[in-house]
Amino acid sequence: MNAPAAATVFDIQRIRADFPLLARTVHGKPLVYLDNANTSQKPASVIEAVDEHYRRHNANVARAVHQLGEEATAAYEGARDSLAGFVNAASRNELVLTSGTTQSINLVAYSYALPRLKEGDAILTTTMEHHANIVPWQLVAARSGATVKAAPIDERGELIVERFVELLTPEVKLACVAHVSNVLGTVNPVREIARECRRRGIPLLVDGSQAVPHRPVDVQALGCDFYAFTGHKMLSPTGTGALWAKREHLESMPPFFGGGEMIREVSFDGTTFAEAPHKFEAGTPNIAGFAGVTAAIDYYRSLGFEAIRAWEQNLLAYATERLRDVPGLRIIGEAAHKEPVISFLLEGAQATDLATLLDLEGVAVRSGHHCAHPLMQFYGVPATLRASLAFYNTREEIDAFVVALLKVRKLLM
Ligand code: PLP
Repeated sequence: MNAPAAATVFDIQRIRADFPLLARTVHGKPLVYLDNANTSQKPASVIEAVDEHYRRHNANVARAVHQLGEEATAAYEGARDSLAGFVNAASRNELVLTSGTTQSINLVAYSYALPRLKEGDAILTTTMEHHANIVPWQLVAARSGATVKAAPIDERGELIVERFVELLTPEVKLACVAHVSNVLGTVNPVREIARECRRRGIPLLVDGSQAVPHRPVDVQALGCDFYAFTGHKMLSPTGTGALWAKREHLESMPPFFGGGEMIREVSFDGTTFAEAPHKFEAGTPNIAGFAGVTAAIDYYRSLGFEAIRAWEQNLLAYATERLRDVPGLRIIGEAAHKEPVISFLLEGAQATDLATLLDLEGVAVRSGHHCAHPLMQFYGVPATLRASLAFYNTREEIDAFVVALLKVRKLLM
């Protein structure tokens, strides 16, 4: 194999032991979990942080002056600090805590975009987006008379940046792009895109869902306006996520949800709102989940992204090489810069049949359209199989996956 061995400092067996679920079997076979782009597994420290919260600190946030209320508030606000550090925000107040990317993008769609859009305006996105970065824009476009345009990609699965830039015409009021494609693994040149958007005074939203689990993100260095991401793909509990936005944007945006926690004073003569980010956080949040987010970020820190990247990129190269040797296998997405996501098709076999048979071998991969219909339409396929890797995967697991694939392929031929 050409792929060089990864850094030996990465103690993979110790790391795997931190993830209780990885030790289980499925259909009597050792689990090979390759569906990390869908959701990641959680280390014991995250599970314990959630457990500890309910056992010792459970109370509501920002409402009680008693000890437990203070502890719960500290856990929740502590997550804001952790997240601000994680993406290098200039201020913790630039982080709105949400239930995930979907909520984060919808917040921008309804609170930032909708009040600004009018007939004839446009929102620019790309062909490779997840539906979460398409449908909210279509909904607000339908209400305002604006349109949604998509910048094209090439066969390799790379955004055609020149076309994206050409499409940044004066009627475009917002541009939206994935940092990393959930289907192709393509890493988009967000800095360059942000520079072009800034030149034209067009704000840029980046969907960072598939980037934050794999690479250090610095929102200031990227130069975007909004960065949306989700917790459950980055070791954290489900129902957690964040929207980072430049302070001036958050200040200019009206609240999206109304209710408790987000007000200063309420009367029937008029209600005044809390400062950002609290004005966007109506109701009781997922406090225990956010206790887990801090533990997840601490876990990433304990490994360091340098070591994570070395391991994952090595694994990606190894898995790609091994899959290329499988007869009739076609990889969809061969961008020069990729995170460890491999979509593929196998001649003569349906993706869903393959995924079902692979499951019987203990291998969890995803089949389907991956919430990216326009991308499937571009490649002219209804579905792909997708193996998505994390830093706790191993070469032995890739080997087991390929052996299973060759076995089920025979059954289907
Ligand atoms: N954007 C991308 C690129 C994704 O991969 C996903 C999840 O698969 C989402 C958005 C939606 O994330 P969530 O369901 O956590 O809101």
